[in-house]
Amino acid sequence: MNVTTLPKPPRVGLVSLGCPKNLVDSERIMTKLRAEGYDMSPDYAGADVVLVNTCGFLDSAKEESLEAIGEAIAENGRVVVTGCMGKEAELIRERFPDVLAITGAHQYEQVVEAVHEAAPPIPSPFIDLVPEAGLKLTPRHYSYLKISEGCNHRCAFCIIPHLRGDLVSRRPDAVLREAEKLIAAGTKELLVISQDTSAYGVDVRHKAWPWKGGEVRAHMTDLARELGKLGAWVRLHYVYPYPHVNDVMPLMAEGLVLPYLDIPFQHASPNVLRRMRRPANDAKVLQRIRDWRAQVPELAIRSSFVVGFPGETDEDFAYLLAWLEEAQLDRVGAFKFEPVEGAPATTMEEQVPDEVKQERFDAVMALSARISAEKLAAKVGSTIDVLIDAVDAETGGATGRSKADAPDIDGEVHLRDAGSLSPGDIVPVKVEDADEHDLFAVPA
Ligand code: SF4
Repeated sequence: MNVTTLPKPPRVGLVSLGCPKNLVDSERIMTKLRAEGYDMSPDYAGADVVLVNTCGFLDSAKEESLEAIGEAIAENGRVVVTGCMGKEAELIRERFPDVLAITGAHQYEQVVEAVHEAAPPIPSPFIDLVPEAGLKLTPRHYSYLKISEGCNHRCAFCIIPHLRGDLVSRRPDAVLREAEKLIAAGTKELLVISQDTSAYGVDVRHKAWPWKGGEVRAHMTDLARELGKLGAWVRLHYVYPYPHVNDVMPLMAEGLVLPYLDIPFQHASPNVLRRMRRPANDAKVLQRIRDWRAQVPELAIRSSFVVGFPGETDEDFAYLLAWLEEAQLDRVGAFKFEPVEGAPATTMEEQVPDEVKQERFDAVMALSARISAEKLAAKVGSTIDVLIDAVDAETGGATGRSKADAPDIDGEVHLRDAGSLSPGDIVPVKVEDADEHDLFAVPA
């Protein structure tokens, strides 16, 4: 049996100087890097690259920043400089010619790109929340917003808790401040990510923090509501179907949160779910989906499934296919079980032969492609909102996504004629055609 050994994620050290605004910038950069799988290093020695976020407000602050850069160069040698001193790149280069890159305040994309160059990310389907394609610089008009680290579950195929530890939720006010800054910088869509979004705040007993004259609890519903008020699209990923997810439906019905749920079901057979030690292993999930759709008819559900988990019998797999037929999920991703070093499932008996895994994978993909094609065909003739991702100058067309499509993992909406549209625009379009995954439309 081939067991996958995961490479160690690259580690970033951070020295953050100056005012609270600078700290928020540092927090935002680190959140993005962590969302991409980077680890933080508490010391110079363990870092693959050190990021120095400088302050240049007063001469004394400049001197302090230069000293910090000097120390990072001496202790580590691989240094990226950002922050207010970015305006004085020549001065920095004169003193420290070995600095890898210098970027200015709020130049998030450039900082993250410099870190990518200095210590390339290692995309891993086993630990990443952000899809591999998302590791390229996220365009300004959508942003991943990480709300917590780690996980309290112990799924048998997963090594996240071992790597990242138990759930640690970010403060809701810090998440909201970051979201506000992202929106001010041009973000039109916030993609909320974590290992288990439904569990957000459990570790701090859903404590409340002051926010805009009131309070906001560290709780998925409260956070989603406040994020929704900021005016961007809010898309929830990695939601487990606990009962309190019902409370998000009114927010979707009101238009505060996109009618979209990314729920990693991974399987449907109770037998396999038990062996997987999955959370929210609830026989009533199908009924719950029906209830959600009754409240929010346009709700799009995306999920992923693992086939060939150790001990998965023909009956278990038949159960999964019947469940998928019944659930009519909008988007489905399937994975063949792969043993990963350190995961309990790796040493389980009754491993499923590769050819059986492949057959089951093909069957799930064929079924989900058919369901997706039927669902998309039903949209032909309707008018939907689309967020433009890219405009093709050569063909004059554009590509965007509907509320039902997350970037990189779901489908796209192709426009023949972009007119004067630009990336980040949200426009109504009329759907003319559909295939298994994508829609084809014209501006309405
Ligand atoms: S819920 Fe399960 S699969 Fe997801 S991170 Fe936690 S342990 Fe891993």
